[in-house]
This record gives sequence, structure tokens and C-alpha cells, in this order.
Amino acid sequence: MREPRPDWVSARVSHGHVADYKPFVFVDGEGVRCSLYVSGCLFACDGCFNEAAWSFRYGSPYTSALEDRVLDDLAHPAVQGLSLLGGEPFLNTEVCLRLAGRVRERFGGSKDIWAWSGYTFEQLLADSPDKRDLLQHVDVLVDGPFRRDERDLSLAFRGSRNQRVLDVSGSLVAESPLPWTPGRRSAAPAV
Ligand code: SF4
Repeated sequence: MREPRPDWVSARVSHGHVADYKPFVFVDGEGVRCSLYVSGCLFACDGCFNEAAWSFRYGSPYTSALEDRVLDDLAHPAVQGLSLLGGEPFLNTEVCLRLAGRVRERFGGSKDIWAWSGYTFEQLLADSPDKRDLLQHVDVLVDGPFRRDERDLSLAFRGSRNQRVLDVSGSLVAESPLPWTPGRRSAAPAV
């Protein structure tokens, strides 16, 4: 596994590609969700569940048509929110910020946004402005790299014990990572 470096910046590494999009899934967070899997990750965790998506050129380019489809799928009343997975969403911030911004514009706080990242909450706060901007849109962050020696299949929404499921808006206010409470809906402001 690699430790993050200052030159890990979306503007330099991302090709704006997505590996997959899955509407109406039940496993990527709480409730029914629409999941976007962006392409490209530099963490190279031993035992990564999605090694094919390490390449920033994997999959196909993110398009306006896909974005419109995601928004229309999110409008379904049964859908609780959007999930951003990878690859690494915070190294694909052009795509994720564009989509998250439109989600907030159209749905305000009525749909929540979950994101999975190899970065920790603290690392994201201390990193580039685009990462902090994306964090502002996220309600729930599953943070940290997958560590094989801490692997635990009994955990919800994460694969290893070092990873945390965090309430982002509460953590930003407290300036300290706070665990997410199941059943607590979005508190992120409309932007
Ligand atoms: S951060 Fe996630 S996608 Fe990236 S290598 Fe680790 S487990 Fe795989």
C-alpha cells in the first residue's frame, strides 16, 4: 500500500473516467442507492476489492448523459442517495464535484451522499482544496485504506477494522472525526 503524497491531485491524475454505474443498489450505504464507481486509485492496497479500477483510464468517460441519468434515477422516491466509490473519488474530484453539485442543486439535503476513500478524514482536510470541497458535499465518509491484516467481513460498509464510517457534517463542525449513526439522515446543507 502506498501512503498519499502531495502530488496526488485529481487535476494531474484523473482522466474523468468511470468504471461503472449501478442504480438501485442496497449494499453501498444505507437504503436504496445509486452508485458511481470512478476510475483510478493510487493507494494500491493489498487485497483491494477492485484492482481493475486502479487505472485512471479504466472504463469509459463520464458524460453529461450519464450525469442526467444518475439525477433521474435519484429522483425515484425509494432512493435514499448517491454513493461515490472507486477507484478513488477524491482523485476524481472534477467528476464527483460536478455530480454532487447537481445533486445538491436539484435535491438539496433530501438525498444523502456517501463516499468511500483511501484517505482518512484528517488527510482529506489537510490536502488539496478540491478534496475539501468534495468533503463538504458528503454526508457519510467511509475512510482509510483497506488493510488485509485488519480484514473483517462482519463489518458493515467497510472491509477492514481501521476504516471508519463517519458523519461528515458533524465531524467538520467538531473538527474531529465522529462516527455515523445508522438511520441518521443527511445534515449537509444545500449549496
Ligand atoms: S483505496 Fe480502495 S480502491 Fe484504492 S487500492 Fe485501496 S481498497 Fe482499492
